[in-house]
Amino acid sequence: MSLHPSSYCGVTMTADTYDDDVALHAYVLRHFPHLMTALERRVTEYIAPIVSNSDDSKILKLHEFLEERDGHVDDADVISAFQTPLDERIANAVDRALETRRDDLNENRCAQCQRLARTPAAKQCLWCGNDWH
Ligand SMILES: [Zn+2]
Repeated sequence: MSLHPSSYCGVTMTADTYDDDVALHAYVLRHFPHLMTALERRVTEYIAPIVSNSDDSKILKLHEFLEERDGHVDDADVISAFQTPLDERIANAVDRALETRRDDLNENRCAQCQRLARTPAAKQCLWCGNDWH
């Protein structure tokens, strides 16, 4: 495992540029999407609104899958959420999850440097190299 990753949960960051807030957001988004509400997931996972009255059969199929997976979300709420840019939608959803579901979040932090590991199950710190196998 490289100690100088170019990507951490989809975010470009090295040990020198590590930002805990950025890391925590990326970590939640990658590993704890189930802490988000059905609406939040619906409007953060896709760049297009997945609604029930689409002309596109692929979107309709996806809509059916998401309703089954997450529960019902109103089309009007999806359209309304898309008024906000994607990165802002994501930041808001993660902020809310952190504020209200923090107890359900397994923050796998390195005992040596306190930074977040790459995954909840990781046993090695990619920032300082500490190994707790
Ligand atoms: Zn560490």
